[in-house]
Amino acid sequence: MKKILFVTSEAHPLIKTGGLADVCGSLPKALVALSQDVRLIIPYYQALKTTENVRFLFSLRVDNRSINVLETVMPDSGVIVWLVDYPGYYNYPGNPYVDEKGEPWENNAERFGLFCRIAVEVAMNRVGQDWKPDVVHCNDWQTGLVPAFLSLEYERPSTVFTIHNMAYQGLFPLSAVGSLFIPGQLWHPGGLEFHEMLSFIKGGLVYADYITTVSPTYALEIQTAEFGYGLEGLLEYRQASLGGIINGIDLDQWNSETDPYIPQLYSETSLADKLINKTALQTQFGLPVNNKIPLLGLIGRLVEQKGIDLIIECLPEMLTLDLQLVLLGSGDKEYEQQLQGLADLYPDNFAITLGYNEALAHLIEAGADAFLMPSKFEPCGLNQMYSQRYGTIPIVRKTGGLADTVTDTLPETLDNETASGIVFNEASASALLEAIKRCLILYDMPEAWRSMQINAMRKDFSWQRSAEDYLALYERL
Ligand code: ADP
Repeated sequence: MKKILFVTSEAHPLIKTGGLADVCGSLPKALVALSQDVRLIIPYYQALKTTENVRFLFSLRVDNRSINVLETVMPDSGVIVWLVDYPGYYNYPGNPYVDEKGEPWENNAERFGLFCRIAVEVAMNRVGQDWKPDVVHCNDWQTGLVPAFLSLEYERPSTVFTIHNMAYQGLFPLSAVGSLFIPGQLWHPGGLEFHEMLSFIKGGLVYADYITTVSPTYALEIQTAEFGYGLEGLLEYRQASLGGIINGIDLDQWNSETDPYIPQLYSETSLADKLINKTALQTQFGLPVNNKIPLLGLIGRLVEQKGIDLIIECLPEMLTLDLQLVLLGSGDKEYEQQLQGLADLYPDNFAITLGYNEALAHLIEAGADAFLMPSKFEPCGLNQMYSQRYGTIPIVRKTGGLADTVTDTLPETLDNETASGIVFNEASASALLEAIKRCLILYDMPEAWRSMQINAMRKDFSWQRSAEDYLALYERL
């Protein structure tokens, strides 16, 4: 049995802004199911939802500050959670990274720097809890200083750093080096320095014993200039200690046979029942109710990464086709306004809901016929897996985890029963449009469509498989 300290800035269902939270909610749970001893450590934000009792565990002094650490458990899984309680940094309204107005917290370097310090104290068993992890598993830039600080310790645990998204690096001005008391041994261009800025992510990339990303394809992509943000050289240098492990999905939450958010449960043997969800989805979005018209869905952050500009560019032409599109998301205000304008212009074919809405996300996955993910890059992506589980055909660009989890529909993949979606190459509006047209042709071939749905629903996206890969890695270290 391994003792694993899981360090993260978000974890579903406690607090979530994106896919990172899904992973950090599910992977510890899957590791516990494999009989491992896991603790998750996370800042005690105001917005953090704890339904179970929270109890005081210990306090400590770091960098001249007094910090309490509290203990609770994950509401759905019982995984032990340690909450870093420092109200001056975390007890404010807003999300983990931005304030109520959407501006990054001014003191993010200090907020996550302190969090990393506490994680190191826990990792080194210096908090009076008689628990020393074998492995410290860090996630994204917010935790990047942990492997860096630990590299200076004697008899330290092994470290794993997982990149969920290279686009976010935690870059801060030089002044942060002083305010975080970064030791001189770490402050140089081969260490935490990146073009005279302090780079949190480099702490993980330089100092972790092993680096993972959330899909094998993304592990290769980030070693190129297009996806590496100037860190491709470092990643290539570390390629012997860099690999991809695809995320699983939470099959309890995303199960069309038990989903409490959808009006009609269904399975691969009762696919006709999916239509009831389609009707509910059309009704909810105020679109004409029509069983026959193909209904596409899209859920996600409305940012460039997700290819929203491609959607906007091809929407007018897309909507001349016989289809409907529903979209749920929030993000860049400019995208939101453009999409709202198009929805007003095409009320019979296109409807949007701006905001974050978990229940509606489930209804879209269950009710749509196909799901759009034209991402520019996608470290792993979850919605294409949810879609497949729900017999909703994903239309994806061939990048990152999308390339690794969706099998394009071709004569041979239909024959060998692997076809599960539509995959296109080029990040352009015309390539996206071609893919949508290809989808419509297949939609008109009920037998082919049905076998795509069944192939998709039968795929194994379980966390158990991914957790076994992580465990094998921990054991190797
Ligand atoms: P990313 O982490 O880049 O945002 P992922 O596909 O890995 O993308 O994960 C996004 C997660 O957040 C999915 O679970 C998705 O359903 C959810 N999500 C994103 N936007 C919304 C929204 N507006 N409402 C509900 N769920 C959302």
